[in-house]
Amino acid sequence: MEPILKMVSISKYFGTFAANEDVNLEVQKGEIHSLLGENGAGKSTLMNVLYGLYKPEKGEIFFEGKKLNLNSSKDAIDVGIGMIHQHFMLVPVHTVLENVIMGMGKEKGFIIDEAKLEKEILDIANRYGMKISLHSKVSELSVGEQQRVEIVKALYRGAKLLIMDEPTAVLTPQETEELFTTLRKMSDGGMSIILITHKLNEVMAVCDKVTVLRDGRVTGRIDIKDTNELELTKAMIGRELSPACKDNTCCKGDMVLELKDVSYEEDKGAKLLSNINLNLCAGEILGIAGVDGNGQKELAEVIAGLVHATSGNVFLGNEEITHKSISEIINMGVGYIPEDRHKRGLVLDFSVSENLILKDYCKQPFRKKVFFDFNVINNHAEKMIEKYSIKTQSKNDEARKLSGGNQQKVVVAREVDKLPKLLIAVQPTRGVDIGAIEFIHKQILKAKEQGTAVLLISTELSEINSLSDRIAVIYKGSIIGEIDQSEFEESTIGLMMAGIPKEKAMQSL
Ligand code: ADP
Ligand code: MG
Repeated sequence: MEPILKMVSISKYFGTFAANEDVNLEVQKGEIHSLLGENGAGKSTLMNVLYGLYKPEKGEIFFEGKKLNLNSSKDAIDVGIGMIHQHFMLVPVHTVLENVIMGMGKEKGFIIDEAKLEKEILDIANRYGMKISLHSKVSELSVGEQQRVEIVKALYRGAKLLIMDEPTAVLTPQETEELFTTLRKMSDGGMSIILITHKLNEVMAVCDKVTVLRDGRVTGRIDIKDTNELELTKAMIGRELSPACKDNTCCKGDMVLELKDVSYEEDKGAKLLSNINLNLCAGEILGIAGVDGNGQKELAEVIAGLVHATSGNVFLGNEEITHKSISEIINMGVGYIPEDRHKRGLVLDFSVSENLILKDYCKQPFRKKVFFDFNVINNHAEKMIEKYSIKTQSKNDEARKLSGGNQQKVVVAREVDKLPKLLIAVQPTRGVDIGAIEFIHKQILKAKEQGTAVLLISTELSEINSLSDRIAVIYKGSIIGEIDQSEFEESTIGLMMAGIPKEKAMQSL
């Protein structure tokens, strides 16, 4: 059968850097096709080419047998290609209906048959099992609902091929399941879907075919029924993984961190954390699960001293640190892997060796009286680069020259190597490749084994599950419940992430 989409020999350069090199992609009608690859593999670039946002340096695109000449996303939409970006593009103050019809000219006409319009849109939503309420404001919707509006909007514009860029990154497991049900219905109805992801289980669960990208090139084109996660991993990273393996015996030591009724309000008065109670012992990993944006960042910052609790108390060991400064808290033995490594974790203009001592440069042994001891600093850097397999041409290279995964390794190396009493790790592997993820996980487990208490804040449930001894779920700034690792059920946690208390979440399964 002639494929609905054929991308032939696409090359796209940024300067001299090849984000896509000779990429071929074929998608059949009614197929769910995964575009799989690590961060930076070139997936979004390729799809932006298909959606008319980038002009490739080389290559041709055929859609329904016809050669395309795309100059804008409007050209792509006109032929029936829809794209749902990682960040939604809805107007929050408008209603769902307004957002769906926006820009189509229909809202401007003199006579709008609103009832007919609504029926058309609801028919589309119902056909694929999507619940939407047309008169709600987009700002009132959950992320999952907003995504449905984006899908309906693309379908209403006549999409025959729908591109979804990492759609599950912002969803709870249940919302992901619902999305997959919708995608299956769409493919049964003859729609073609390109699903961008780096999650292998999703590829296996919902896709028919997969094209794997690595460093801008295709490294695999495989039928899902003939493959497995191992083969896909190899295509993705060029080798096999030996995943971090947790020793399930948690030998807990003394209490290291305790939060008592901690609340935090912004200046404007919005309550971002309310009445949080948590405790964490030496040698234990407490995972904080939750959908992004439910207070995770604030929780980490309140403990690290970047902001101060509005009420309640934070204790490190026996000492209260509620109102201490970040430098005092660091000096008491707290390591911090922040969510945004560019803003808080690294100074990108500084060298790798400077970044490796960022917080200790004033201290022995790096300082001799008023001078830095460059011998010690350089030796330290060389040792750390070797020990933590940081890929850099030189210890004197600026941090910005490193890949994302290696930048994160610099932060992890610096924070873990000093064997802190408490390690706060926020999204420690976000945006890094699976090779680096494996490595970072091992470092976190090693720290735990050596007695560090680890607070692991992550939106990746697989990460929480594979590392934590206990899991607390955060929802709208509150801890909605806590479960032991032995009780881990993705569906229970998923419901809790949507705000359903533990007992109810467990019953409803
Ligand atoms: P993916 O979506 O697979 O994570 P991208 O397609 O976003 O990867 O990026 C591929 C590579 O191209 C990355 O190394 C990225 O830094 C680079 N890149 C992407 N967009 C641009 C741009 N506008 N300018 C320069 N480099 C870019
Ligand atoms: Mg991308």
